[in-house]
Amino acid sequence: MKLTVVGAGYVGLTTAVCFAHLGHEVMVVEKLPNKVELLKEGKVPFYEPGLEELLKENLSLGRLSFTTELKQGLNFSEVIFICVGTPQNPDGSADLSQVEEVARETAKIMESYKLFVEKSTVPVNTHKLIKRTVERYLQRRGKQIEFDVVSNPEFLREGSAIKDFLEPDRIVVGVESQRARQIMEELYRDFKCPIIFTDPATSELIKHASNSFLAMKISYINMVADLCEKVGADVRLVAEGMGYDKRIGREFLRAGIGWGGSCFPKDIKAFIKMAKDHGVDFSLLEEVDKINQRRAVQFVEKVKNVLWSLKGKTLAVWGLSFKPNTDDIREAPSLRIIPLLLKEGAFLKLYDPKAMENFKALYPPGKDLTYEKDIYKTVEGASALLILTEWEEFEKADLERVKELMELPIIVDGRNMYDPKRVRELGFEYYGVGVP
Ligand code: NAD
Repeated sequence: MKLTVVGAGYVGLTTAVCFAHLGHEVMVVEKLPNKVELLKEGKVPFYEPGLEELLKENLSLGRLSFTTELKQGLNFSEVIFICVGTPQNPDGSADLSQVEEVARETAKIMESYKLFVEKSTVPVNTHKLIKRTVERYLQRRGKQIEFDVVSNPEFLREGSAIKDFLEPDRIVVGVESQRARQIMEELYRDFKCPIIFTDPATSELIKHASNSFLAMKISYINMVADLCEKVGADVRLVAEGMGYDKRIGREFLRAGIGWGGSCFPKDIKAFIKMAKDHGVDFSLLEEVDKINQRRAVQFVEKVKNVLWSLKGKTLAVWGLSFKPNTDDIREAPSLRIIPLLLKEGAFLKLYDPKAMENFKALYPPGKDLTYEKDIYKTVEGASALLILTEWEEFEKADLERVKELMELPIIVDGRNMYDPKRVRELGFEYYGVGVP
Protein backbone atom coordinates (compact mmCIF):
# COMPACT_ATOMS: atom_id res chain seq x y z
CA MET A 1 0.00 0.00 0.00
CA LYS A 2 0.96 3.64 -0.32
CA LEU A 3 0.87 5.49 2.99
CA THR A 4 1.49 9.03 4.18
CA VAL A 5 2.69 9.74 7.71
CA VAL A 6 2.51 13.28 9.08
CA GLY A 7 5.00 14.01 11.89
CA ALA A 8 8.40 12.33 12.20
CA GLY A 9 8.70 12.01 15.98
CA TYR A 10 9.03 8.75 17.91
CA VAL A 11 5.64 7.52 16.78
CA GLY A 12 5.58 8.86 13.22
CA LEU A 13 9.06 7.72 12.31
CA THR A 14 8.57 4.28 13.85
CA THR A 15 5.24 3.91 12.06
CA ALA A 16 6.77 4.95 8.73
CA VAL A 17 9.90 2.83 9.01
CA CYS A 18 8.01 -0.26 10.20
CA PHE A 19 5.35 -0.07 7.48
CA ALA A 20 8.13 0.36 4.92
CA HIS A 21 9.88 -2.65 6.45
CA LEU A 22 6.65 -4.61 5.90
CA GLY A 23 6.76 -3.73 2.20
CA HIS A 24 4.58 -0.63 1.96
CA GLU A 25 5.62 2.61 0.28
CA VAL A 26 5.66 5.43 2.78
CA MET A 27 6.06 9.18 2.45
CA VAL A 28 6.68 11.15 5.64
CA VAL A 29 5.65 14.78 5.94
CA GLU A 30 7.60 16.60 8.66
CA LYS A 31 7.46 20.32 9.03
CA LEU A 32 10.97 20.82 10.44
CA PRO A 33 13.31 21.11 7.42
CA ASN A 34 16.49 20.19 9.34
CA LYS A 35 14.82 17.00 10.61
CA VAL A 36 13.86 16.09 7.06
CA GLU A 37 17.42 16.68 5.84
CA LEU A 38 18.82 14.39 8.53
CA LEU A 39 16.25 11.69 7.79
CA LYS A 40 16.96 11.79 4.07
CA GLU A 41 20.60 11.06 4.94
CA GLY A 42 19.46 8.08 7.00
CA LYS A 43 20.05 9.73 10.38
CA VAL A 44 17.51 9.52 13.20
CA PRO A 45 17.44 12.76 15.23
CA PHE A 46 16.82 10.88 18.50
CA TYR A 47 17.95 7.59 19.99
CA GLU A 48 15.77 4.54 19.45
CA PRO A 49 17.47 1.13 19.24
CA GLY A 50 17.45 -0.35 15.72
CA LEU A 51 15.53 2.52 14.12
CA GLU A 52 18.44 4.06 12.23
CA GLU A 53 19.46 0.72 10.68
CA LEU A 54 15.90 0.05 9.53
CA LEU A 55 15.58 3.62 8.22
CA LYS A 56 18.75 3.28 6.13
CA GLU A 57 17.68 -0.11 4.79
CA ASN A 58 14.28 1.11 3.65
CA LEU A 59 15.66 4.35 2.21
CA SER A 60 17.99 2.33 0.04
CA LEU A 61 15.13 0.05 -1.01
CA GLY A 62 13.27 3.17 -2.13
CA ARG A 63 10.29 2.47 0.11
CA LEU A 64 10.66 5.59 2.24
CA SER A 65 10.72 9.25 1.34
CA PHE A 66 10.60 12.50 3.30
CA THR A 67 9.20 15.92 2.53
CA THR A 68 8.25 19.16 4.27
CA GLU A 69 5.36 19.65 1.83
CA LEU A 70 1.96 18.40 2.97
CA LYS A 71 0.69 18.68 -0.61
CA GLN A 72 3.29 16.22 -1.80
CA GLY A 73 2.28 13.82 0.96
CA LEU A 74 -1.39 14.12 0.04
CA ASN A 75 -0.73 13.48 -3.63
CA PHE A 76 1.20 10.37 -2.64
CA SER A 77 -1.54 8.33 -0.95
CA GLU A 78 -5.08 8.29 0.39
CA VAL A 79 -4.15 7.10 3.88
CA ILE A 80 -2.89 9.89 6.14
CA PHE A 81 -1.46 8.86 9.51
CA ILE A 82 -1.62 11.77 11.93
CA CYS A 83 1.41 11.34 14.21
CA VAL A 84 1.95 14.90 15.41
CA GLY A 85 2.41 15.92 19.04
CA THR A 86 -0.46 16.41 21.48
CA PRO A 87 1.32 18.14 24.38
CA GLN A 88 -0.24 19.40 27.57
CA ASN A 89 -2.08 22.70 27.93
CA PRO A 90 -1.60 24.65 31.18
CA ASP A 91 -5.02 23.41 32.40
CA GLY A 92 -4.01 19.76 31.88
CA SER A 93 -6.02 19.22 28.70
CA ALA A 94 -4.37 18.04 25.48
CA ASP A 95 -3.22 20.75 23.08
CA LEU A 96 -4.72 19.59 19.79
CA SER A 97 -3.51 22.49 17.67
CA GLN A 98 -1.09 20.29 15.67
CA VAL A 99 -3.86 17.78 14.90
CA GLU A 100 -6.24 20.58 13.94
CA GLU A 101 -3.60 22.05 11.63
CA VAL A 102 -3.15 18.77 9.77
CA ALA A 103 -6.94 18.38 9.33
CA ARG A 104 -7.37 22.00 8.22
CA GLU A 105 -4.44 22.14 5.85
CA THR A 106 -5.39 18.81 4.29
CA ALA A 107 -9.00 19.91 3.79
CA LYS A 108 -7.81 23.05 2.01
CA ILE A 109 -6.01 21.13 -0.72
CA MET A 110 -7.29 17.54 -0.90
CA GLU A 111 -8.73 16.58 -4.27
CA SER A 112 -9.68 12.95 -3.70
CA TYR A 113 -10.76 10.50 -0.97
CA LYS A 114 -8.63 10.60 2.19
CA LEU A 115 -8.58 8.35 5.24
CA PHE A 116 -7.36 10.28 8.29
CA VAL A 117 -5.84 7.87 10.81
CA GLU A 118 -5.40 9.27 14.31
CA LYS A 119 -2.25 7.66 15.71
CA SER A 120 -1.53 10.54 18.04
CA THR A 121 -3.05 10.20 21.49
CA VAL A 122 -6.17 12.34 21.45
CA PRO A 123 -9.10 12.91 23.80
CA VAL A 124 -12.35 11.09 23.18
CA ASN A 125 -14.38 12.50 20.29
CA THR A 126 -11.45 14.24 18.61
CA HIS A 127 -12.50 12.36 15.46
CA LYS A 128 -15.67 14.44 15.46
CA LEU A 129 -13.66 17.67 15.55
CA ILE A 130 -11.45 16.50 12.68
CA LYS A 131 -14.56 15.62 10.71
CA ARG A 132 -16.20 18.98 11.38
CA THR A 133 -13.08 20.90 10.35
CA VAL A 134 -12.63 18.94 7.13
CA GLU A 135 -16.33 19.26 6.23
CA ARG A 136 -16.24 23.02 6.78
CA TYR A 137 -13.29 23.59 4.49
CA LEU A 138 -14.59 21.25 1.80
CA GLN A 139 -17.92 23.06 1.88
CA ARG A 140 -16.17 26.41 1.67
CA ARG A 141 -14.29 25.18 -1.38
CA GLY A 142 -17.54 23.89 -2.89
CA LYS A 143 -16.08 20.39 -3.06
CA GLN A 144 -17.82 17.12 -2.39
CA ILE A 145 -15.00 14.77 -1.55
CA GLU A 146 -15.48 11.66 0.55
CA PHE A 147 -13.27 11.12 3.58
CA ASP A 148 -13.16 9.04 6.76
CA VAL A 149 -11.59 9.47 10.17
CA VAL A 150 -10.29 6.39 11.98
CA SER A 151 -8.86 6.13 15.48
CA ASN A 152 -5.86 3.80 15.64
CA PRO A 153 -3.99 4.61 18.86
CA GLU A 154 -0.34 3.70 19.18
CA PHE A 155 0.85 1.70 22.19
CA LEU A 156 4.58 1.48 21.45
CA ARG A 157 7.12 2.24 24.17
CA GLU A 158 10.24 4.26 23.54
CA GLY A 159 13.26 2.01 23.87
CA SER A 160 11.46 -0.96 22.28
CA ALA A 161 9.44 0.92 19.67
CA ILE A 162 10.15 -1.30 16.67
CA LYS A 163 9.33 -4.56 18.42
CA ASP A 164 6.24 -3.02 20.03
CA PHE A 165 5.06 -1.77 16.64
CA LEU A 166 5.69 -4.98 14.74
CA GLU A 167 4.53 -7.34 17.49
CA PRO A 168 1.88 -5.46 19.45
CA ASP A 169 -0.28 -7.07 22.14
CA ARG A 170 -3.29 -5.82 20.22
CA ILE A 171 -4.31 -3.36 17.54
CA VAL A 172 -7.27 -1.08 18.19
CA VAL A 173 -9.18 0.46 15.30
CA GLY A 174 -12.14 2.77 15.83
CA VAL A 175 -13.98 3.03 12.56
CA GLU A 176 -17.36 4.11 11.22
CA SER A 177 -17.46 3.30 7.50
CA GLN A 178 -17.03 0.02 5.67
CA ARG A 179 -14.58 1.63 3.24
CA ALA A 180 -12.29 2.73 6.06
CA ARG A 181 -12.56 -0.62 7.79
CA GLN A 182 -11.50 -2.46 4.64
CA ILE A 183 -8.40 -0.29 4.27
CA MET A 184 -7.42 -0.86 7.90
CA GLU A 185 -8.06 -4.62 7.62
CA GLU A 186 -5.81 -4.77 4.56
CA LEU A 187 -3.10 -2.73 6.30
CA TYR A 188 -2.96 -4.98 9.37
CA ARG A 189 -3.71 -8.24 7.51
CA ASP A 190 -0.42 -9.92 8.39
CA PHE A 191 -0.31 -8.96 12.07
CA LYS A 192 -0.75 -11.93 14.37
CA CYS A 193 -2.25 -10.14 17.40
CA PRO A 194 -5.95 -9.56 18.14
CA ILE A 195 -7.40 -6.64 16.19
CA ILE A 196 -10.22 -4.92 18.00
CA PHE A 197 -12.66 -2.94 15.87
CA THR A 198 -14.74 -0.40 17.75
CA ASP A 199 -16.42 2.91 17.13
CA PRO A 200 -13.94 5.83 17.10
CA ALA A 201 -14.88 7.24 20.52
CA THR A 202 -14.32 3.88 22.21
CA SER A 203 -10.97 3.47 20.50
CA GLU A 204 -9.85 6.95 21.53
CA LEU A 205 -10.85 6.17 25.10
CA ILE A 206 -8.98 2.86 25.15
CA LYS A 207 -5.65 4.68 24.78
CA HIS A 208 -6.12 7.12 27.64
CA ALA A 209 -7.71 4.46 29.84
CA SER A 210 -4.73 2.14 29.23
CA ASN A 211 -2.02 4.70 29.95
CA SER A 212 -3.75 5.96 33.09
CA PHE A 213 -4.20 2.40 34.33
CA LEU A 214 -0.50 1.64 33.83
CA ALA A 215 0.49 4.84 35.65
CA MET A 216 -1.88 3.82 38.44
CA LYS A 217 -0.21 0.41 38.74
CA ILE A 218 3.19 2.04 39.24
CA SER A 219 1.92 4.57 41.77
CA TYR A 220 0.18 1.73 43.59
CA ILE A 221 3.31 -0.36 43.95
CA ASN A 222 5.22 2.76 44.97
CA MET A 223 2.83 3.26 47.89
CA VAL A 224 3.25 -0.40 48.79
CA ALA A 225 7.02 0.21 48.69
CA ASP A 226 6.66 3.05 51.19
CA LEU A 227 4.80 0.74 53.53
CA CYS A 228 7.41 -1.98 53.02
CA GLU A 229 10.13 0.46 54.12
CA LYS A 230 8.24 1.18 57.33
CA VAL A 231 7.63 -2.45 58.24
CA GLY A 232 10.79 -4.09 56.90
CA ALA A 233 9.10 -6.02 54.06
CA ASP A 234 10.50 -6.41 50.53
CA VAL A 235 8.42 -4.77 47.79
CA ARG A 236 10.13 -6.80 45.06
CA LEU A 237 8.77 -9.99 46.59
CA VAL A 238 5.40 -8.42 47.30
CA ALA A 239 5.21 -7.47 43.60
CA GLU A 240 6.23 -10.98 42.59
CA GLY A 241 3.66 -12.52 44.88
CA MET A 242 0.98 -10.23 43.50
CA GLY A 243 2.06 -10.44 39.88
CA TYR A 244 1.64 -14.20 39.47
CA ASP A 245 -2.07 -13.63 39.98
CA LYS A 246 -3.27 -13.43 36.36
CA ARG A 247 -5.86 -10.84 37.33
CA ILE A 248 -3.03 -8.53 38.38
CA GLY A 249 -0.17 -9.43 36.04
CA ARG A 250 3.56 -8.99 36.62
CA GLU A 251 4.28 -5.98 34.42
CA PHE A 252 4.52 -2.45 35.76
CA LEU A 253 4.92 -3.48 39.38
CA ARG A 254 8.46 -2.22 39.80
CA ALA A 255 8.79 0.28 42.63
CA GLY A 256 11.04 3.28 42.16
CA ILE A 257 11.21 7.03 41.76
CA GLY A 258 8.10 7.20 39.61
CA TRP A 259 6.95 7.37 36.04
CA GLY A 260 7.82 10.04 33.52
CA GLY A 261 8.23 10.41 29.77
CA SER A 262 6.29 12.13 27.08
CA CYS A 263 3.09 10.13 27.57
CA PHE A 264 1.99 9.11 31.09
CA PRO A 265 2.26 12.55 32.74
CA LYS A 266 0.34 14.40 30.05
CA ASP A 267 -2.09 11.58 29.27
CA ILE A 268 -3.20 11.10 32.84
CA LYS A 269 -3.79 14.85 33.19
CA ALA A 270 -5.72 14.92 29.92
CA PHE A 271 -7.84 11.98 31.10
CA ILE A 272 -8.63 13.68 34.41
CA LYS A 273 -9.57 16.89 32.58
CA MET A 274 -11.67 14.99 30.05
CA ALA A 275 -13.59 13.27 32.84
CA LYS A 276 -14.09 16.57 34.64
CA ASP A 277 -15.35 18.27 31.48
CA HIS A 278 -17.97 15.53 31.20
CA GLY A 279 -18.97 15.77 34.87
CA VAL A 280 -17.16 12.60 35.97
CA ASP A 281 -15.10 12.79 39.16
CA PHE A 282 -11.93 10.77 38.45
CA SER A 283 -10.08 11.97 41.55
CA LEU A 284 -8.59 8.47 41.83
CA LEU A 285 -6.23 9.54 39.04
CA GLU A 286 -5.44 12.86 40.70
CA GLU A 287 -4.10 10.86 43.63
CA VAL A 288 -2.10 8.63 41.27
CA ASP A 289 -0.45 11.76 39.85
CA LYS A 290 0.22 13.27 43.29
CA ILE A 291 1.85 10.06 44.49
CA ASN A 292 4.14 10.24 41.49
CA GLN A 293 5.07 13.88 42.07
CA ARG A 294 6.04 13.05 45.65
CA ARG A 295 8.53 10.35 44.60
CA ALA A 296 11.26 12.85 43.72
CA VAL A 297 10.94 14.71 47.02
CA GLN A 298 10.95 11.45 48.95
CA PHE A 299 14.04 10.24 47.09
CA VAL A 300 15.97 13.41 47.89
CA GLU A 301 14.84 13.16 51.53
CA LYS A 302 16.23 9.65 51.57
CA VAL A 303 19.59 10.82 50.21
CA LYS A 304 19.65 13.57 52.84
CA ASN A 305 18.89 11.11 55.62
CA VAL A 306 21.69 8.88 54.45
CA LEU A 307 24.32 11.62 54.10
CA TRP A 308 23.07 13.95 56.87
CA SER A 309 23.90 17.11 54.89
CA LEU A 310 24.31 17.49 51.13
CA LYS A 311 26.01 20.87 51.24
CA GLY A 312 29.29 20.75 49.31
CA LYS A 313 29.07 16.96 48.91
CA THR A 314 29.96 15.35 45.61
CA LEU A 315 27.20 13.05 44.36
CA ALA A 316 27.42 10.76 41.36
CA VAL A 317 24.23 10.40 39.32
CA TRP A 318 23.79 7.52 36.89
CA GLY A 319 20.86 7.90 34.50
CA LEU A 320 18.95 10.94 33.26
CA SER A 321 16.52 9.57 30.66
CA PHE A 322 13.03 8.71 31.89
CA LYS A 323 13.76 5.06 31.22
CA PRO A 324 16.55 2.96 29.67
CA ASN A 325 17.21 2.72 25.92
CA THR A 326 16.04 6.21 25.08
CA ASP A 327 17.54 9.69 25.10
CA ASP A 328 14.13 11.16 25.94
CA ILE A 329 14.13 13.22 29.14
CA ARG A 330 10.62 14.68 28.82
CA GLU A 331 9.10 14.65 32.34
CA ALA A 332 11.89 12.35 33.52
CA PRO A 333 12.20 11.94 37.32
CA SER A 334 15.77 13.27 36.94
CA LEU A 335 14.29 16.65 36.02
CA ARG A 336 12.51 16.75 39.37
CA ILE A 337 15.39 15.31 41.42
CA ILE A 338 18.44 17.21 40.08
CA PRO A 339 17.12 20.71 40.96
CA LEU A 340 16.28 19.54 44.49
CA LEU A 341 19.79 18.17 44.95
CA LEU A 342 21.33 21.41 43.63
CA LYS A 343 19.13 23.40 46.00
CA GLU A 344 20.60 21.40 48.87
CA GLY A 345 24.05 22.60 47.80
CA ALA A 346 25.36 19.31 46.40
CA PHE A 347 27.96 19.10 43.64
CA LEU A 348 26.68 16.73 40.95
CA LYS A 349 28.60 14.54 38.51
CA LEU A 350 26.16 13.27 35.89
CA TYR A 351 26.30 10.41 33.44
CA ASP A 352 23.81 8.85 31.02
CA PRO A 353 24.66 6.66 28.01
CA LYS A 354 22.38 8.61 25.63
CA ALA A 355 20.53 11.49 27.30
CA MET A 356 23.35 13.84 28.35
CA GLU A 357 23.07 16.15 25.32
CA ASN A 358 19.35 16.66 25.91
CA PHE A 359 19.95 17.29 29.61
CA LYS A 360 22.78 19.73 28.92
CA ALA A 361 20.40 21.90 26.92
CA LEU A 362 18.43 22.48 30.15
CA TYR A 363 21.28 22.24 32.68
CA PRO A 364 24.54 23.45 31.14
CA PRO A 365 27.68 22.32 32.96
CA GLY A 366 28.75 24.76 35.68
CA LYS A 367 30.36 25.06 39.06
CA ASP A 368 27.85 22.75 40.75
CA LEU A 369 27.33 20.24 37.94
CA THR A 370 29.51 18.35 35.44
CA TYR A 371 28.91 15.73 32.76
CA GLU A 372 31.29 12.77 32.81
CA LYS A 373 32.51 10.55 30.02
CA ASP A 374 31.85 7.22 31.69
CA ILE A 375 30.40 5.59 34.79
CA TYR A 376 33.77 5.31 36.55
CA LYS A 377 34.76 8.96 36.07
CA THR A 378 31.35 9.85 37.49
CA VAL A 379 31.86 8.08 40.80
CA GLU A 380 35.39 9.38 41.48
CA GLY A 381 35.42 11.11 44.87
CA ALA A 382 31.63 10.81 45.30
CA SER A 383 30.02 10.51 48.73
CA ALA A 384 27.17 8.52 47.22
CA LEU A 385 26.05 7.06 43.92
CA LEU A 386 22.42 7.77 42.97
CA ILE A 387 20.75 5.62 40.34
CA LEU A 388 17.91 7.30 38.46
CA THR A 389 17.59 5.07 35.36
CA GLU A 390 18.17 1.33 35.14
CA TRP A 391 20.41 1.19 32.05
CA GLU A 392 21.94 -2.22 31.38
CA GLU A 393 25.41 -0.58 31.40
CA PHE A 394 24.93 0.18 35.10
CA GLU A 395 23.83 -3.35 35.88
CA LYS A 396 27.06 -4.63 34.34
CA ALA A 397 29.30 -2.10 36.13
CA ASP A 398 32.43 -3.36 37.89
CA LEU A 399 31.23 -2.54 41.38
CA GLU A 400 34.58 -3.40 42.99
CA ARG A 401 36.14 -0.65 40.90
CA VAL A 402 33.27 1.71 41.68
CA LYS A 403 33.81 1.11 45.40
CA GLU A 404 37.52 1.90 45.14
CA LEU A 405 36.88 5.17 43.31
CA MET A 406 34.24 6.57 45.66
CA GLU A 407 34.90 8.61 48.77
CA LEU A 408 32.24 6.56 50.53
CA PRO A 409 30.78 3.33 49.12
CA ILE A 410 27.12 4.31 49.36
CA ILE A 411 24.46 3.55 46.73
CA VAL A 412 20.97 5.03 46.76
CA ASP A 413 19.20 3.05 44.07
CA GLY A 414 16.03 4.75 42.82
CA ARG A 415 15.25 1.85 40.48
CA ASN A 416 15.94 -1.25 42.59
CA MET A 417 18.46 -2.27 39.98
CA TYR A 418 20.83 -4.13 42.27
CA ASP A 419 20.35 -7.07 44.55
CA PRO A 420 20.82 -5.54 48.03
CA LYS A 421 22.46 -8.68 49.39
CA ARG A 422 25.08 -8.80 46.62
CA VAL A 423 26.09 -5.14 46.83
CA ARG A 424 26.21 -5.20 50.62
CA GLU A 425 28.47 -8.24 50.46
CA LEU A 426 30.73 -6.19 48.17
CA GLY A 427 31.03 -3.65 50.97
CA PHE A 428 28.49 -1.04 49.96
CA GLU A 429 25.97 0.68 52.13
CA TYR A 430 22.85 0.18 49.99
CA TYR A 431 19.43 1.83 49.98
CA GLY A 432 16.78 0.72 47.51
CA VAL A 433 13.09 1.54 47.28
CA GLY A 434 10.91 -0.53 49.58
CA VAL A 435 13.61 -3.12 50.21
CA PRO A 436 15.02 -3.91 53.62
P1 NAD B 1 7.08 14.18 18.82
O1 NAD B 1 6.85 15.51 19.42
O2 NAD B 1 8.35 13.45 19.06
O3 NAD B 1 6.88 14.26 17.24
C1 NAD B 1 5.89 15.00 16.60
C2 NAD B 1 6.44 15.47 15.25
O4 NAD B 1 5.40 16.05 14.48
C3 NAD B 1 7.52 16.57 15.38
O5 NAD B 1 8.67 16.18 14.66
C4 NAD B 1 6.87 17.80 14.78
O6 NAD B 1 7.78 18.68 14.16
C5 NAD B 1 5.93 17.17 13.77
N1 NAD B 1 4.80 18.03 13.34
C6 NAD B 1 3.99 18.78 14.11
N2 NAD B 1 3.07 19.39 13.34
C7 NAD B 1 3.29 19.03 12.06
C8 NAD B 1 2.68 19.32 10.82
N3 NAD B 1 1.63 20.13 10.73
N4 NAD B 1 3.18 18.77 9.71
C9 NAD B 1 4.26 17.95 9.76
N5 NAD B 1 4.88 17.62 10.91
C10 NAD B 1 4.41 18.14 12.06
O7 NAD B 1 5.86 13.29 19.32
P2 NAD B 1 5.79 11.71 19.57
O8 NAD B 1 6.48 11.35 20.83
O9 NAD B 1 6.13 10.99 18.31
O10 NAD B 1 4.23 11.56 19.84
C11 NAD B 1 3.27 11.79 18.82
C12 NAD B 1 1.92 11.39 19.36
O11 NAD B 1 1.89 9.99 19.65
C13 NAD B 1 1.51 12.09 20.66
O12 NAD B 1 0.10 12.27 20.64
C14 NAD B 1 1.87 11.09 21.72
O13 NAD B 1 1.10 11.22 22.89
C15 NAD B 1 1.56 9.78 21.02
N6 NAD B 1 2.32 8.63 21.51
C16 NAD B 1 3.64 8.76 21.83
C17 NAD B 1 4.36 7.63 22.25
C18 NAD B 1 5.81 7.75 22.62
O14 NAD B 1 6.34 6.82 23.23
N7 NAD B 1 6.50 8.83 22.30
C19 NAD B 1 3.73 6.38 22.34
C20 NAD B 1 2.40 6.29 21.97
C21 NAD B 1 1.69 7.40 21.56
